[in-house]
Amino acid sequence: MYYGFDVGGTKIEFGAFNDQLERVATERVPTPTDDYELLVNTIAGLVEKYDAELNCEGKIGLGLPGMEDADDATVLTVNVPAAKGKPLRADLEAKIGRPVKIENDANCFALSEAWDEELQDAPSVVGLILGTGFGGGLIYDGQVFSGRNNVAGEVGHMRLPIDAWFHLGDSGKAPLLGCGCGKQGCQDSYLSGRGFELIYTHYFGEEKKAIDIIKAREAGCEKAIEHVERFMELLAICFANLFTANDPHVVALGGGLSNFELIYEEMPKRIPKYLLSVAKCPKIVKAKHGDSGGVRGAAFLNIK
Ligand SMILES: [Zn+2]
Repeated sequence: MYYGFDVGGTKIEFGAFNDQLERVATERVPTPTDDYELLVNTIAGLVEKYDAELNCEGKIGLGLPGMEDADDATVLTVNVPAAKGKPLRADLEAKIGRPVKIENDANCFALSEAWDEELQDAPSVVGLILGTGFGGGLIYDGQVFSGRNNVAGEVGHMRLPIDAWFHLGDSGKAPLLGCGCGKQGCQDSYLSGRGFELIYTHYFGEEKKAIDIIKAREAGCEKAIEHVERFMELLAICFANLFTANDPHVVALGGGLSNFELIYEEMPKRIPKYLLSVAKCPKIVKAKHGDSGGVRGAAFLNIK
C-alpha cells in the first residue's frame, strides 16, 4: 500500500493507493498552522489509523509547497510555517519507524501524471503547471529527478530565452517583470496565469482576468486575439528551450491555464521551428489527475 500526503498551507490530504494504484482511502484534515509537534503527530496519527484500518504497513510519501535542504534535510517552505526549517523527514521517520520520502508538490504533480495508465510506459515525462505560478517536475523512468539541490524542474525561475525577449519587443517594449525569488525575467512571471494577465496589462494598459481575455478572444476582440497570438508564440519559445535541454517523451500540462484548449493545437505547430532540426515536438497532453495530483504523486514516490 502506498500512502500519500499532500501537505498544503491550509489542509493536509491523505490518500492510500493499492498495488493497482487505485485510491482506497482519503482523508482531509486542517494543516496545523504554527505547531510543528502537532503537524508531526497529525501525519503519524493518520499513518497509524490507516495501517490498522487497511491492515498493512503503508509506504509513506509526502508532497509540500517547498523542498528539503539538500545538505541538512530541513524543510524550505513559506506556505507551511509549522514545517519551516524543521527536519520533518527525520522526525517522522523516528516517530513512525519507517522511511519517509518528501518531495516538492510540483514534482508530485508530474509523478502522478507519469504514472497515469496511458503514460507509464514513457521513459521521460515533464509535468508543467500553468497556474498561479509556472512550475514543473522532471520524471525519468517513473522517478522524480530532483538534482543536487532539489531544485531540478524549477522551470519558473529559468529566465526568458533571448528569442522570447525579441518576440516581446526587445528593450523598451518588452515587459521586464520581477519575480518573488528576487530576479527579473523569470518565466514564472510570464507563462503563469498571472503572467498571462500581466502581459495583457503591459501592452494594453488595462487589467483583465485570464478567463475574460480568453472569452473576449472567442468573441472576436482584437486586443484579445493579438494577446493570445503573442502568448502562444511566447509559450512555444519557452517550451522549446526547455525541450532542447531535456527532450521529454511526453509533456503533461496542469494548472488553470492548461484548460485553454488552444494550447494543444498551437504548440505542435509553433514549437518545431525553435527546436534543433533533428528534434520533434513531444506529445503534449492535458493533466488527467488535476487536484488529486499532489496526493497521488506523493504516494507514488515509493513505487520505485
Ligand atoms: Zn524567479
